[in-house]
Amino acid sequence: MEKQQFKAESKRLLEMMINSIYTQREIFLRELISNASDAIDKIYYKALTDDQLVFNKESYYIKVTVDKANRKLILSDTGIGMTREELENNLGVIAKSGSLAFKKENEAKEGHNIIGQFGVGFYSAFMVADKVEVISRALGSDEAFKWESEGAEGYTIATADKAGVGTDIIMTIKPNTEDDNYDEFLEEYRLRAIIKKYSDFIRYPIKMDMKGQ
Ligand code: ADP
Ligand code: MG
Repeated sequence: MEKQQFKAESKRLLEMMINSIYTQREIFLRELISNASDAIDKIYYKALTDDQLVFNKESYYIKVTVDKANRKLILSDTGIGMTREELENNLGVIAKSGSLAFKKENEAKEGHNIIGQFGVGFYSAFMVADKVEVISRALGSDEAFKWESEGAEGYTIATADKAGVGTDIIMTIKPNTEDDNYDEFLEEYRLRAIIKKYSDFIRYPIKMDMKGQ
């Protein structure tokens, strides 16, 4: 008898995942910071074997920007970035981990710190944001692309402008409801506390930029 593959309703699966994998919303920040750290680590590993590539510690960091007036929370990194294909494969395919693949390819190398492996952490941003835009420019490329999604309905990819290599994750934070407070994710003290709680071990500096305050 021929074995059939399970089919999945990706829209329902994503909704389920966003709403049930995590018990606490605040961990979305840990997931995005982990991804940013992995992206910088990937440049670090590449530099170990590529003479053309120099890892200047000062050039690599993670930045949290808050634009309260526009309800934007932005997580930027100067990591390896993503090509159009990588945006498609890593953010368009649920449970696909580019970091797990990278880990496997680089297994022989010393002391790797890559955190990602399950390929779902990124989507936790939709617990707090009703729109997520990812603007990314890959190492070695002079083109940038923007991946954009409002969640279960799908995503789009278009060309974009970005000065340096790396990735910006732009979240439009949900409005408060009677039961749920989302404004807290636009408050400096709250974001600092979340970062301290879950991301204290990250090897790269995490900077904070509060716009218009
Ligand atoms: P995981 O981290 O477990 O692999 P995620 O859902 O968090 O899963 O991310 C999926 C993939 O998207 C990552 O493996 C990585 O390839 C890519 N990715 C996510 N965020 C970034 C980023 N800031 N820079 C570069 N690549 C990223
Ligand atoms: Mg991750």
